[in-house]
Amino acid sequence: MIRPATRPPAKPISPSPAKPGPSRPAEPIQLEVLPLPGGPARIEWRRSVRARRVSLRIDPKGGGVVITLPQRAARQAGMALLMDNAAWVSERLAALPKPVAFVDGAVVPLHGIDHRICHIGGRGGVWIEGRQINVGGAGEFLARRIADFMRATARERLAKLALDKAEQAGVRPKRVSVKDTRSRWGSCAADRSLAFSWRLVLAPPFVQDYVAAHEVAHLRHMNHGPQFWALVDELTPHTAAAMAWLRNEGPRLLRVG
Ligand SMILES: [Zn+2]
Repeated sequence: MIRPATRPPAKPISPSPAKPGPSRPAEPIQLEVLPLPGGPARIEWRRSVRARRVSLRIDPKGGGVVITLPQRAARQAGMALLMDNAAWVSERLAALPKPVAFVDGAVVPLHGIDHRICHIGGRGGVWIEGRQINVGGAGEFLARRIADFMRATARERLAKLALDKAEQAGVRPKRVSVKDTRSRWGSCAADRSLAFSWRLVLAPPFVQDYVAAHEVAHLRHMNHGPQFWALVDELTPHTAAAMAWLRNEGPRLLRVG
């Protein structure tokens, strides 16, 4: 599994164990805007039965902060964690790339190369012409059409890469699918299904190649041990460069679409 880096660095993510508060029914997701040193920040409060401690992460897609509380933790524990990390949070929010929506005229990367979205009208469909993504049909369906096109293109590209590499490694995935996950670029399930984020279609081919190799290698080794990495290196020459690229440019992909 490969996760985008969205959590605070260093150890004490939870400075103190969550204080048991009065038991209460699960609350729906709550949103609020709080003033942080770097300016107002959108905070999303979640309660989780599975969480064992208070946690905080940046939501690169939404441009805010998500604080997850275990069932019995007091909200105060979340506020304390937020305040302890306030400088880091402000810095990360300020550094988030601007969101790029699928609209006429927007520039979005496709296989790592910037393309301009052009609404052509006329009959429906999406096609590439040079560095343009041409979109037919009514304007109201433009975003939907591009989203579908991106997912289909991602699925085609990543399935091809994964199947080629699986053959090379002498393994076979049960299925290869593409999802809209923001928390991971790829994953390998216990039933041998591989899943990839559709946003990888925005990334350069060497990054797609590495993520496919990484997940295929998990079909042989369900860990990140030395044998796993040796197999990854057999399946792709791009490990170091792709990991660096995802670390630096990955957040930008999460702001597209
Ligand atoms: Zn992994």
